[in-house]
Amino acid sequence: MKAICVFSGGLDSMLSAKIIRSQGIDVLGVFFKTPFFTPEKAIRSAQLINLPLKILDITEEHLRILKNPKYGYGENMNPCIDCHALMFKCAGKIMEEEGADFVISGEVLGQRPMSQNRKALQIIAEESGLGRLLLRPLSAKKLPITIPEERDWVKRELLLDVHGRSRKPQLELAKKYGITDFPSPAGGCLLTDRIFSKRLKDLIELKKDFDIRDIELLKLGRHFRIDRTTKIIVGRNKKENQMLKDLYRKEDVLLEPKEIPGPVVLLTGDKSEKNIQLALDITATYSDTKPHQQIEIIAHFPSYTKVLKGKSHEKRIFHGILIN
Ligand code: SF4
Repeated sequence: MKAICVFSGGLDSMLSAKIIRSQGIDVLGVFFKTPFFTPEKAIRSAQLINLPLKILDITEEHLRILKNPKYGYGENMNPCIDCHALMFKCAGKIMEEEGADFVISGEVLGQRPMSQNRKALQIIAEESGLGRLLLRPLSAKKLPITIPEERDWVKRELLLDVHGRSRKPQLELAKKYGITDFPSPAGGCLLTDRIFSKRLKDLIELKKDFDIRDIELLKLGRHFRIDRTTKIIVGRNKKENQMLKDLYRKEDVLLEPKEIPGPVVLLTGDKSEKNIQLALDITATYSDTKPHQQIEIIAHFPSYTKVLKGKSHEKRIFHGILIN
């Protein structure tokens, strides 16, 4: 008997894998990677409990649901019901490929008001196509009986009835299973981050055909929205400056102060004279120069490089166009 565990790397998914393994069932963990949720924590958590882990990139399908989620977004830009349905659908395919018998997850009834209430859990099971082959070991006794329980592949009486937002039962279980090291519940998915979500919403509304590079750009710098197609992105430190250089494309303009320390700045979209001057002034403003000074800035255009001038201002005059 074998189960596929949809594994985020959080304590709840670690416990689910442990609970099912303690019933003599093989468990294979699967992490679904997107630009918003990367596998580092899951890899570490899987190692800690000796769980074999498969990592699958679902970016393409994920971006499709992100643009128009059937069940909407959570508090930020997190389409959790659609996202779970997609992950479990993919887990169902892996179940078949691996010759496994059912799928498990660390979901807990009532832990998240929108995506883990009774109705949402049912929708996820149905939309994924798994139906009653999806077992949530932590809350199983609070949920309708599933096929693995009905057919006695797993003993329902050994499953749990955890529900709600308290972490106490999970912490006690962690002790029982000797799990002393696990990631904190906060963080993980960028789609639950308020500022990132604001930038993403702006992108989805204004650029229908956005791609991975647009998403990667959202993760760094200060973003200034100039018009429907134009943005100015300002690096905040050495690492971000380098990343902006790496993400630069020929159709952008890349700016960097010539002689004094300052940010790397990327202008994407309309490269009109007015927009270039605005980007130059923003570059000067966020450099180490004082307000109202003019500095030289190296500007990289698609086919040539030129030294131009930008004037620094008080930062607050740009706050109206800052997406934060
Ligand atoms: S928090 Fe992120 S990864 Fe998790 S279900 Fe929601 S959208 Fe998907």
